[in-house]
Amino acid sequence: MAGNDPEPHFDELYRDLILDHYRMPRNRGVLDVADVDLTQFNPVCGDEVRLTARIVDGAVAEIAFLGQGCSISQSSASMMTEAIRGRSLDHAIRVAQGFRAMILGEDADEAMMGDLMALQGASRYPTRVKCAVLAWDTLQRALGGARGREDVGSSDPDSAG
Ligand code: ZN
Repeated sequence: MAGNDPEPHFDELYRDLILDHYRMPRNRGVLDVADVDLTQFNPVCGDEVRLTARIVDGAVAEIAFLGQGCSISQSSASMMTEAIRGRSLDHAIRVAQGFRAMILGEDADEAMMGDLMALQGASRYPTRVKCAVLAWDTLQRALGGARGREDVGSSDPDSAG
């Protein structure tokens, strides 16, 4: 399957970056030892992302993804692993929230988004929003669970946010 090319509203530079991640995904695979292991689907487009990560001292020590689907969903997952690997859970969640806001059409924090700016064009396509945020949905759910386990005695992790 060739997958879908990004739509023309993505800048050429950004299209190249998206396709580069799509063709050569970073951190692709499944970790042997993982604190979080979660799979999410976007049935509208047929996208799938499985995320495994190892959490050490409140930071994302290792992260890998496996998935299939369109170029937007897979490049978003690849860029996400690059953006948060080695970073604290708090930072990862802030980036996830910033990315989601950007895709929903809000102003983006370009310094924080970095290469993720390439996916901003997805905000112009309602059907692409779910593709772009799939990996981040998976991340937020996975980290929410991981943080809940670390904060023993805290309230229900589902109530956060
Ligand atoms: Zn998709």
